Amino acid sequence: MSKRDYYDILSVSKGASEAEIKKAYRKLALKYHPDKNPGNKEAESKFKEAAEAYEVLSNPQKRQQYDQFGHAAFDGGQGGFGGGMSMDDIFDHFGDIFGSAFGGGGFGRRGGSRVRKGSNLRVKLRLSLEDIVNGVQKKIKVNKLVQAEGVEFSTCSSCGGTGQVTRVTNTILGAMQTSSTCPVCKGSGQTISNRPAGVDSSGLEKKETIIEIDIPAGVEHGMQLSMQGKGNEAPGGGVPGDLIVAIEEIEHEHLVRNGNDLLYQLGISFSDATIGTSVEIPMVTGKAKIKIPPGTQSGKNLRLRSKGIPDINGYGRGDMIVNIQIWTPQKLSKEEKELLVKLNESDNFKPKLNQTKNFFDRMKNHFS
Ligand SMILES: [Zn+2]
Repeated sequence: MSKRDYYDILSVSKGASEAEIKKAYRKLALKYHPDKNPGNKEAESKFKEAAEAYEVLSNPQKRQQYDQFGHAAFDGGQGGFGGGMSMDDIFDHFGDIFGSAFGGGGFGRRGGSRVRKGSNLRVKLRLSLEDIVNGVQKKIKVNKLVQAEGVEFSTCSSCGGTGQVTRVTNTILGAMQTSSTCPVCKGSGQTISNRPAGVDSSGLEKKETIIEIDIPAGVEHGMQLSMQGKGNEAPGGGVPGDLIVAIEEIEHEHLVRNGNDLLYQLGISFSDATIGTSVEIPMVTGKAKIKIPPGTQSGKNLRLRSKGIPDINGYGRGDMIVNIQIWTPQKLSKEEKELLVKLNESDNFKPKLNQTKNFFDRMKNHFS
């Protein structure tokens, strides 16, 4: 089976910087994260494929070998993954990639642990652009599994409370002892002797709970914030699961988000564009006045620096981009038409476009 090119997998160029590679991997890892795609085998294999590409390209020495020899550089299990990487390996290696953006909680590791962990609880949270720009504290109501009251436990009779069962088998080499998790109490050492109505077999019940969460400024539609330990409680007093908050963005009436930039389209009359004016435009909160300089062409973008959305990782702030469109009148009175016909004789009214080449370059970039 031929392998895909590592640069192609991450959609980066051969000359990509370390930061670009990390960013590209992070994007894929979040997209195909198993928490986001439960039971999806294709997402899992994409997740693994991206991790493998990142493992090589993020290491200068391995990257150099790969650039020189391609996949052949890692045949024979040297440096690569041999038979591929397990999910746990990926979280061990690259868990930090999910960390910082998620309020320190990070995505939980999956499996492998002896401590019983409660299940993750998922909620959707709809946020206005204003909340996203400023960051917000929200109280949300969740129905989560908690230790039920009135449950009586008794020591598991199958394992005697150790949570482990030991079996001795006689083989030709002598008696062999094997231990495994007790199937009756599933390792907790306790069984339920009294279970009130509405309580599940592990002693948990659903309870409406209010959780306060701090949403950092700059979150994005589709992003998942993971809050460690705020999910469902674990049976028998293990570690609670995580609360996973999926962000949904409520569309703004006037502004469109593009990454951390905000876009606004402003229509002005051709006379205003010619003589210049100042116009009030909507911002996320309130309004702002901007100057349209005399001689402004249609399609011009005015950039208001740092008036966009704060970067979630603290790297500054996006811009607000005002795209100017000049309105051409579609109806004219007789007098207006006469005036325009007269004005049109002036050399000043002849188009002097001097940007054809730039324009097509820009168009190409726009569509590529
Ligand atoms: Zn037991």
